[in-house]
Amino acid sequence: MGTVKSDRLLALLLCVLAQPVLAASIAIDVGHYSEEPGVISARGRPEFEFNLDLAREIEAVLRARGHATRLIGADGGMKDLGRRSRAAQGADLFVSVHHDSVREKYLAPWVHDGGEQRYSDMFSGFSLFVSRENAGLKRSLRCASAIGAALKKADFRPSLYHADPVFGENRPFADKDNGVHYFDHLAVLRHADMPALLFEAGVVVNRAEETKMSDSKVQKQIAISVADGIEACLNKRR
Ligand SMILES: [Zn+2]
Repeated sequence: MGTVKSDRLLALLLCVLAQPVLAASIAIDVGHYSEEPGVISARGRPEFEFNLDLAREIEAVLRARGHATRLIGADGGMKDLGRRSRAAQGADLFVSVHHDSVREKYLAPWVHDGGEQRYSDMFSGFSLFVSRENAGLKRSLRCASAIGAALKKADFRPSLYHADPVFGENRPFADKDNGVHYFDHLAVLRHADMPALLFEAGVVVNRAEETKMSDSKVQKQIAISVADGIEACLNKRR
């Protein structure tokens, strides 16, 4: 019996070794919910739907690489921010997935599909945010920078306008090169018990960028870059 047991142990060990080394656990938060779906895109699509598509893609890529994931808020019913943080408990990293707008005064009307919508083609690109009130700031920043760097490598560009006092909201840069800003009071980041970051994938009030963000190949590439960044920063690459 002893030998059988140790054979089993050996088999179990080999099985564990065949898995990615130290697979991480990532909480992927779908920004907003059905009743308050966030930004309305240039063609009238709610941000929540963009966030859900991309969050699912990010989840698929991370799972395929052997990481554990939880998708938070996918049913569109998660109004309570506290529930999001609680649902993420125990994860190594919290990533909140969003799509961006611009300041109200830069939006102009246009007609799409017979309906009046609002757009601005002034700004485009991704941005990342971390909070200095999050207990895991150092790793949050490292992950945000690594995701920004991976996106740049795949030819995406940081928007940078959030740091501008006129065009944006004067958010200080945490890592300008990689499009990372401080957004200290952002509740979903400061209340997270683990390293946390918020990712604005692109500006969907920009008509060309909305088209790009709606392309499943682009979504897939963004998801790959996000996963590359996460693996680099958590130092848990296979
Ligand atoms: Zn949002």
